[in-house]
Amino acid sequence: MHELSVCGAIADIVTRHADGRPVRVIHVRVGQLRQVVPDTLAYCWELVSAQTPLAGSRISVESVPARLRCRACGHVTDVGAVPVFACGGCGGFDAEVVSGEEFLVTSLELESASADGAERGDSGAMPGKAKSPEESEGASA
Ligand SMILES: [Zn+2]
Repeated sequence: MHELSVCGAIADIVTRHADGRPVRVIHVRVGQLRQVVPDTLAYCWELVSAQTPLAGSRISVESVPARLRCRACGHVTDVGAVPVFACGGCGGFDAEVVSGEEFLVTSLELESASADGAERGDSGAMPGKAKSPEESEGASA
């Protein structure tokens, strides 16, 4: 199942960022073109996380609509529920995807974190999305 491999990738990212701290909620941003069903993702997460220190955490999915930019006229089109890869401005098909392929873990809510309980910061991207592997968030004890 597609969502299972997605959850495996999320588990890797979260494990690195949580650094042993208990995680309550994992916020992920998923582009529409990833074709991930949020409910299925949440279900798979329970399976994947069950035998790990991440058991008991849950996933909060933010969906990102797919958008195209037309190479002919520059118009940006929301793809909508049924993907039609044509420009909404001129009807041309020479368009590039400008959003909808995201897959990011955007933040973690830790079980006993200080402050407001949320740790912000852009975190690991999926393999394939080029991004520095170096962690930039400050580690706290
Ligand atoms: Zn166009």
